Amino acid sequence: MGTLYIVPTPIGNLDDITIRALNVLKSVDFIACEDTRHSAKLLNHFGIKKPLLSFYSYNQSNRAPQIIKELSLGKNAALISDSGTPCISDPGFYLVNEAIAGGINIVPLPGPSAVLTALVASGLPTENFVFLGFLKRKPGKLKKELKQAALAGATVVFYESPHRLKKTLGLLLDVFGSQSRVAVARELTKKFEEFVRGTLGEVAEIFNNREILGEFVVMVSPENNATEKDNE
Ligand code: SAM
Repeated sequence: MGTLYIVPTPIGNLDDITIRALNVLKSVDFIACEDTRHSAKLLNHFGIKKPLLSFYSYNQSNRAPQIIKELSLGKNAALISDSGTPCISDPGFYLVNEAIAGGINIVPLPGPSAVLTALVASGLPTENFVFLGFLKRKPGKLKKELKQAALAGATVVFYESPHRLKKTLGLLLDVFGSQSRVAVARELTKKFEEFVRGTLGEVAEIFNNREILGEFVVMVSPENNATEKDNE
């Protein structure tokens, strides 16, 4: 029986790949990835040549049995995504679940992921947090999702696209109130990395008055959420 390694890759800065990730990528028989052209560029940068197999949500039910068959024949594989940690708002859950059911050994590697990179520098409580991935699209469902998350009293963290950020900050104002503390992380690990922190009212105002470009993680702490200091 082979091993399926879950290998995080950089979220921007290529120096963030780990030595262990490189060693695993060099040692496996093949690599399952989202976009083969995108991953080929990353692997070329590190001088790694391996067979690449595309694996994404649209072909996962066909691809997973194929990958698991190879693993059960003793081959080793790595699962990567376009950036960050596979299975975190990226394909992989289906394969991992099927591999576990098939008795395959799974080895996860720690590494880059936008959620934790953003949270630790947000200045918001980190002891408890709720990660929502990408928010639901329908406004009604989205408000319900946010309200439920707010009830947990923990810092709420989610991924957001640039074209929806303004609208989402408006919704957050309705659900969390203008005095809640928010942090928006942009372009983490890249040249234009930036954190915008403040009350929801202040941060919404800032983004209402500028062009919105890049990749974003949004974090909000409910108004009544005690800081870690308060809890001591
Ligand atoms: N698997 C990835 C991870 O572990 O973070 C997430 C992949 S998800 C498809 C992509 C989203 O993650 C982006 O739309 C953005 O919200 C967030 N993201 C990824 N890289 C980022 C970065 N460098 N800065 C800020 N947000 C980022």
